[in-house]
Amino acid sequence: ENKDQKFVYDFTEGNKDLKDLLGGKGANLAEMTNLGLPVPPGFTITTEACKVYLDSGDEPVELRDEVTAHLDALEKKMGKKLGQADNPLLVSVRSGAKFSMPGMMDTVLNIGLSDKSVEGLAQQAGDERFAWDSYRRLIQMFGKTVLGVDGELFEEALEEAKAAKKVTVDTDLDAGDLKKLVKHFKKIVKAEAGRDFPQDPREQMDLAIKAVFDSWNGERAKLYRRQERIPHDLGTAVNVCSMVFGNLGPDSGTGVAFTRDPASGHQGVYGDYLQNAQGEDVVAGIRNTVPLADLESIDKKSYDQLMQIMETLENHYKDLCDIEFTIERGQLWMLQTRVGKRTAGAAFRIATQLVDQGLIDEAEALQRVNGAQLAQLMFPRFDEKAAVEQVGRGIAASPGAAVGKAVFDSYTAVKWSRSGEKVILIRRETNPDDLDGMIAAEGILTSRGGKTSHAAVVARGMGKTCVCGAEELEVDTKRRRMTVPGGHVVEEGDVVSIDGSTGKVYLGEVPVVPSPVVEYFEGRMHAGADDADELVQAVHRIMAYADRVRRLRVRANADNAEDASRARRFGAQGIGLCRTEHMFLGDRRQYVERLILADTDAERDEALKALLPLQKDDFVELFEAMDGLPVTVRLLDPPLHEFLPDITELSVRVALAEARKEPHENELRLLQAVHRLHEQNPMLGLRGVRLGLVIPGLFTMQVRAIAEAAAQRIEAKGDPRAEIMIPLVGTVQELELVRDEAEQVIAEVQAETGVELKLALGTMIELPRAAVTAGQIAECAEFFSFGTNDLTQTVWGFSRDDVEASFFTAYLEKGIFGVSPFETIDKDGVGALVRSAVEAGRATRPDIKLGVCGEHGGDPESVHFFHEVGLDYVSCSPFRIPVARLEAGRAAA
Ligand code: ADP
Ligand code: MG
Ligand code: MG
Repeated sequence: ENKDQKFVYDFTEGNKDLKDLLGGKGANLAEMTNLGLPVPPGFTITTEACKVYLDSGDEPVELRDEVTAHLDALEKKMGKKLGQADNPLLVSVRSGAKFSMPGMMDTVLNIGLSDKSVEGLAQQAGDERFAWDSYRRLIQMFGKTVLGVDGELFEEALEEAKAAKKVTVDTDLDAGDLKKLVKHFKKIVKAEAGRDFPQDPREQMDLAIKAVFDSWNGERAKLYRRQERIPHDLGTAVNVCSMVFGNLGPDSGTGVAFTRDPASGHQGVYGDYLQNAQGEDVVAGIRNTVPLADLESIDKKSYDQLMQIMETLENHYKDLCDIEFTIERGQLWMLQTRVGKRTAGAAFRIATQLVDQGLIDEAEALQRVNGAQLAQLMFPRFDEKAAVEQVGRGIAASPGAAVGKAVFDSYTAVKWSRSGEKVILIRRETNPDDLDGMIAAEGILTSRGGKTSHAAVVARGMGKTCVCGAEELEVDTKRRRMTVPGGHVVEEGDVVSIDGSTGKVYLGEVPVVPSPVVEYFEGRMHAGADDADELVQAVHRIMAYADRVRRLRVRANADNAEDASRARRFGAQGIGLCRTEHMFLGDRRQYVERLILADTDAERDEALKALLPLQKDDFVELFEAMDGLPVTVRLLDPPLHEFLPDITELSVRVALAEARKEPHENELRLLQAVHRLHEQNPMLGLRGVRLGLVIPGLFTMQVRAIAEAAAQRIEAKGDPRAEIMIPLVGTVQELELVRDEAEQVIAEVQAETGVELKLALGTMIELPRAAVTAGQIAECAEFFSFGTNDLTQTVWGFSRDDVEASFFTAYLEKGIFGVSPFETIDKDGVGALVRSAVEAGRATRPDIKLGVCGEHGGDPESVHFFHEVGLDYVSCSPFRIPVARLEAGRAAA
């Protein structure tokens, strides 16, 4: 252990770049302190201390003394002592990990209050009610988060107190009521926790610090980290911050604000404010907040100062910030800031706005958006012209169009979604217990809470559609129903549609239409057009930055002319993978059957001859659609049985015919062939290049179709750029045999047509042996395309079709994978093979062309990896092309 290691930092000692050590909240509190903004003094206990605690079950020995030293200094600065009877210093103990985890971790306010110091606080503030209100909040929060008492019990006691007094809001309880409530709360603690509420302020603080450490491993925190792919070993920091009070009467209050609208990106005054309230009252929706703009008339001085600070913060962080603040008797205090979460659309708009303001450059703008956000913007939206019944409108909290059956609790949401139902989770408001249900749901609808409510914040983080605060909807979670204006009742299971971009709520299923971003990519909307919205313009600009800087080319996986044309509109620079199996299906299946059943060369040639012109036409269309751009055609890959009838079905057919004494010679032969071709592990059996080598004439027919199509296109003054790709090669000998035959066919076609053909020949690298012997294989291949789907299966030794359903969930839960290796390339294993094959291939043939086809080609993180190992291109499905272009740009910027 490092001897000089320091476990506690004063707010004046840290800065925003120390997030690993001080957590996001602590690092930004320090940054604001150093900017000279009004932050209540305090200190941060590092994530290192937390890690020691979590690893060893005990705090590091030095921690206690360091905390004492920092507390002493804080007490001196404030001129009060923690919990001192006549003039108490109170603090909050706040969690704060590197990544913000909204609502996940626990914070305790008003630490230092006791039966004695509550009197001192009352004296000091000249407000007895305030002191007792603070005390009951402490016991409540401390009881719940530190001592593990069921929070409902306190809520119920509070409700009882209000009911007894016939009032509805907590501010109507006076000092006497609150005194009684404190007594009641203490009884609850004693009964539930088996101990008295601690009267020693230091003990309160120490227990709270430990509770924050422990909350890192709470179930909800773990779930959230898995969802967001946040590592489990970071630990959380703990911030001890002197209290300021928003509950000191009408000239006090608390609020949250954004420097820009997190949904649209527009500059302006966005936030919520609540007078005479403390801490989380705003977020929890306890009482109705007012829009931040109203603060101007409530407290002009604080409002102006806040606007000033928000500008300072935006210019300093050069990004949208969100803020928590409190006003204590007209004095403004900053309690938190961070670079704020935003919707996907806002991310694009804000990035270009900041470029226009000269705050960031184009390279930085690319880092402010990502492929996942772009993919989100490409989701369809509701058709506004559809004749459906709008029944309510809430706040557009997180965009998207979601349709599903209404459910009113998290448990049902999870249960129904597991059985394949789409559900909309409807709640009055959500809390961290609803997380499972929010994950399971298509969308979330609440009747209370603003843009900063739990539902809104969490949904935005998850990229889930959310409408919140739809106040005219009466949600009755107990009876599992919702009443809409006019009295109609939505029962559990009724279909509703919610639009997170407009906040509109509809009964029934609303049809969806393509997003404007897709319309733009499709070329049906131009960024320069008058009606093009800001979003399309922003996407257009960002894509232009990405295209300008990226080194990776982006191709499409497309099997037919229609997909190819769409891919081209989306910016594809060729086809990286044209599968040919569909050219053997449909009506053509009969020829494949004949090919397989052929007893003589003549019968086989017959079948191949029938297929040739059909496939040639397919290629002509494809080369035309991709004229001037490379088209990599993969020769037949899947096991043959995929083209034959199902074995059971065939057996039944044969048995029936036998029973009826009908002729069935053909069926019988087919059945025998199916039996003969049956394999235990077809994916490791007769497929790929092996097919080409054991079925005479199969690959040469395909090569001939490609060559003849290319010749025809050249004669038509086209520019076909076909590349012939041999799948599943394990050794160079296989490739040599296929190449020799292919070259012969190409020479024949040249002779027959008189057209000179330049057809590249290469291979997929999708078996470990091919990767390991890539140097040899490159002797015979003009290009490699890494087939990372099969390579992942063969390197790990598991079949994608089977394992995703069987043990992947367990692996993800146990943290063996952070993410499925089929989704994001496994850099250390599969990626290492790619890297060495790239080097070996280039060593043999310096001008070898290198690409990747397979799902990873459209996965953001994998695209960065392929950029880094020096591939020439990635190939992905047409719809992912913009994402790959953007990420290739981000990787290069
Ligand atoms: P979270 O991470 O859940 O936002 P915080 O630590 O920010 O938790 O605290 C919860 C609430 O308590 C916030 O509204 C915050 O502004 C308020 N709060 C935290 N510390 C103090 C303090 N020292 N004085 C007044 N309010 C505080
Ligand atoms: Mg906070
Ligand atoms: Mg493959």
